[in-house]
Amino acid sequence: MSAETVTLALSKGRIFEETLPLLRAAGIEVLEDPETSRKLILPTNRPEVRVVLVRATDVPTYVEHGGADLGVCGKDTLIEHEAAWGDAAQVGLYRPLDLGIARCRMSVAVPADFDYVRAVRQGARLRVATKYVAIAREFFASKGVHVDLIKLYGSMELAPLTGLADAIVDLVSTGNTLKANRLVEVERIMDISSQLVVRPTSLKLKRALIRPILDAFAQAVAAPAA
Ligand code: AMP
Repeated sequence: MSAETVTLALSKGRIFEETLPLLRAAGIEVLEDPETSRKLILPTNRPEVRVVLVRATDVPTYVEHGGADLGVCGKDTLIEHEAAWGDAAQVGLYRPLDLGIARCRMSVAVPADFDYVRAVRQGARLRVATKYVAIAREFFASKGVHVDLIKLYGSMELAPLTGLADAIVDLVSTGNTLKANRLVEVERIMDISSQLVVRPTSLKLKRALIRPILDAFAQAVAAPAA
């Protein structure tokens, strides 16, 4: 990575779309649409700034290891990354700003006919399917609920419907996915939004390029355009 360029790691979809107005506030326009382009490195109107498209869960890794100088990823992704690789200080990620975008919540959901409150009260051992193992483990431990965690990589909703699990821990936005699968939200674990992550070394070495971007993002987050 050249000292004269700044690389921003984003994931396609909601995070990419909702980061665009923040980039615009920093005077940066992405010149290609990831939905139609097959490129993984997208140029911007600023020759020294480029965007790399990576999987959401890979954003912290890219930034930590210097594949990108900064990135945007969900709080859920960061918590799971830090649980797997050490806390923020150890993994060397600077988290200067909650961008307040891609908002949703992390929740526990069960089939409509499963009596969750009773199961918890009786001290039953719950089988919980999730991609978010660290968040789920910490949440149930703090409640003193015994769980067997079942790690899945997708379609958590299917687990209770097939008898794989009693409950799931997943991201919920509108609630439509749960409803379509006859699941109900029984606990809200935490609110989720996307965070800006920065590589401390990059901030040190490329301060003149990165600082104005951070400042413009912070300003745009504090006073969103109407
Ligand atoms: P919804 O049907 O709107 O409640 O959305 C739920 C589905 O979208 C679940 O499969 C979630 O994993 C996913 N989802 C919702 N919000 C987000 C987000 N901010 N980031 C990533 N995935 C999300």
